[in-house]
Amino acid sequence: MAMPLPEPDDTTPDLNAMEEATREDIERHLVPAQRAAEQNPRTPLDRTRQRGRVARLLREARAALTDTATNAARQAVRIGAAGARTEAPPPDGREQDGIPDDTQTANLTADVDLRQDVRFIITTSGLHVETGPRAVEPALAVQQTASRVWNVTATAITRAHTAGRAWYAALFAYDLKWYTRRDERVCPICRPAHGRVIGSRERFTLREVDWEAFSGRPPAHFRCRCYAQVLRR
Ligand SMILES: [Zn+2]
Repeated sequence: MAMPLPEPDDTTPDLNAMEEATREDIERHLVPAQRAAEQNPRTPLDRTRQRGRVARLLREARAALTDTATNAARQAVRIGAAGARTEAPPPDGREQDGIPDDTQTANLTADVDLRQDVRFIITTSGLHVETGPRAVEPALAVQQTASRVWNVTATAITRAHTAGRAWYAALFAYDLKWYTRRDERVCPICRPAHGRVIGSRERFTLREVDWEAFSGRPPAHFRCRCYAQVLRR
């Protein structure tokens, strides 16, 4: 008998909605490539032409995919800071503070280089479609492109969301608390960290994590959905 699933985690509705919209945008940018990939070539020459067309349409989507991913990371910073504000309001006399402006938002996502990630994914996918005896089916290559772009974007969103929260916490010397979602997709890597508290300028140490991109805050792995709650001292 199947275990009943826990209630889905809805502690971050704004983030979830933004993620959903971003995911749809990524798929929308890949619709032309998808359509080209779904046609059935009749001759080997048609097949070669189709592969070339799919690879070209993937490359043409690159700029839009990069923009979507970059904008999502910036929105995540603002959503993170706004969430922190709700959890832990500013101290008396500083009610106007704690909302990142455009410059701060850009700075907080400066370490998220999605341009390079997206470029790498598109280049790799294009090669997989076009070349070699191990060429991948075009439709599969487009699907893989969508899921890989989503992977790096989702991870960037998590990093930016926590960056916004940590920026807010540092402003008022509040604390950070690791929050792991307790739903059916809970991540076993971060689970032991749930509830740990550190100062806003400290870093979490997780022995379980073996990921070079771990910065001492969520994400602790690709597709990590954890975040840092902010606690008023
Ligand atoms: Zn996690």
